[in-house]
Amino acid sequence: MPNRKQYLIANWKMSKTTNQAILFMQQFPVNSLNNSEIQVILAPSYVSLSILRDIILTASAPITLAAQNCSSEESGAYTGEVSVTMLREIGCQYVIIGHSERRTLFGECEPMLSKKVELAVKAGLIPILCIGESRELYETGATVEYLKQQLAPYSSTLPFLLAYEPIWSIGTGLIPTREDLSTALDAIDSKFPDTPILYGGSVNRKNISDLLCHQRMNGFLVGGASLEPDSFFALYSAMNQNNHHG
Ligand code: PEP
Repeated sequence: MPNRKQYLIANWKMSKTTNQAILFMQQFPVNSLNNSEIQVILAPSYVSLSILRDIILTASAPITLAAQNCSSEESGAYTGEVSVTMLREIGCQYVIIGHSERRTLFGECEPMLSKKVELAVKAGLIPILCIGESRELYETGATVEYLKQQLAPYSSTLPFLLAYEPIWSIGTGLIPTREDLSTALDAIDSKFPDTPILYGGSVNRKNISDLLCHQRMNGFLVGGASLEPDSFFALYSAMNQNNHHG
């Protein structure tokens, strides 16, 4: 099996202040993260990255950091932007690119997103590229076609992670049927056989065991259920159990 490693990523969006991020770290059982095949990644706001880096280092916690976004420019007169070099320097190893909220609320699309991916890789960051269809596309059975279109600019040799996140599933409590998810994962796998593929969209402690039955899935990008230490750790425990039994 090419991709044994699993990923569990917390996308905190704009939900946590730095003080709240620190509190999370005080309550999260970092000493119980003892499965080296499950990589835990936290994506706090930009402003919390450096303090979280220090906390992780001090605790020797097996956790890495992702930024939630990056600039599509390298450096210069781009007020308010954060470059991939800045992220690398502050201790990020990953960067989420093209989250559906960036695409739908902030109008991000190609070619800007592929430029971000290229810059991130060049800077030594691992991009987590988000893809996924809208409810309308899902309902008209156009998911696979749309995923292929979204992935067209990317080479299968890119050192990145793909996060399949149906937009209609994010924050709604709805998840795809087992069959629909398999179809989407197979479609992605057909072009990216060696790329880790994650699922994102309303993952929680109740539905994670069903989702874990997909052999071709390498983990999860989690919003809501990553905000509380106990619910996020419950996801880790479920993955850990599955990893031992699977
Ligand atoms: C997300 O925003 O990437 C996400 C998957 O959110 P949620 O888990 O809340 O659906």
